Amino acid sequence: MAHKIITIDGPAGAGKTTVSKALAKALGCIYVDTGALYRGVAYEIRNRRINWKDEAVLDTFLSDIDLQFTTTGDDCLLTSSGTDISGVIRTGDISMLASDVSAHPLVRQALLDIQRNIGKTRTAVFEGRDMGTVVFPNADCKFFLTADLKIRSRRRYDETQPGNNDLETIEKEMALRDHNDSIRKESPLKPADDAVYIDSTHLSVDQVVTKMIAFIG
Ligand code: C5P
Repeated sequence: MAHKIITIDGPAGAGKTTVSKALAKALGCIYVDTGALYRGVAYEIRNRRINWKDEAVLDTFLSDIDLQFTTTGDDCLLTSSGTDISGVIRTGDISMLASDVSAHPLVRQALLDIQRNIGKTRTAVFEGRDMGTVVFPNADCKFFLTADLKIRSRRRYDETQPGNNDLETIEKEMALRDHNDSIRKESPLKPADDAVYIDSTHLSVDQVVTKMIAFIG
């Protein structure tokens, strides 16, 4: 059987990662969290104190970094020059910087091949913002997963370390990030015309995955 590309796009905290993992497990394939790439770029910009608003500096930086995914079936780890950075890219600061830098066309262009190369040989579930619209316009099955902002921020709050952030801050930052991601010119967050729209506000992870499997067939 030919390999398949399944895409899941949607706003922050919609449950894309949890659902992608569970779906990949059910299908016996890998899942790829493409947001990690944008977080990896933001992390290295912060780490190396890159003046990314200067295009020439950004261009040199992008040709210099070496971000790669290591997929172990259950997990999707991100390495930068061989070092696993998966554990240090999930802070609120990195989320906001990732959202800012991801609007830059040079950044999006630089990350395109990494994503498409993975999809060339293997069945995979790709989650992100522009998977079904830009990166894999010919994907076999496309989903757009969303939920009410209140529910999404509550879910994110429940997964963060106690004392790390309050619910109100998480909700504000999430709304701002969704707004930035939706209004940008390059690859804005939006459902592909042929995507299946799923609102998970009142659905469990299992219910979402069951719906998806029914569509994938
Ligand atoms: O999915 P996650 O919240 O980890 O993504 C972090 C940020 O990376 C998003 O807010 C978005 O700006 C950016 N992103 C993107 N395109 C993707 C995945 C993530 O622009 N395919």
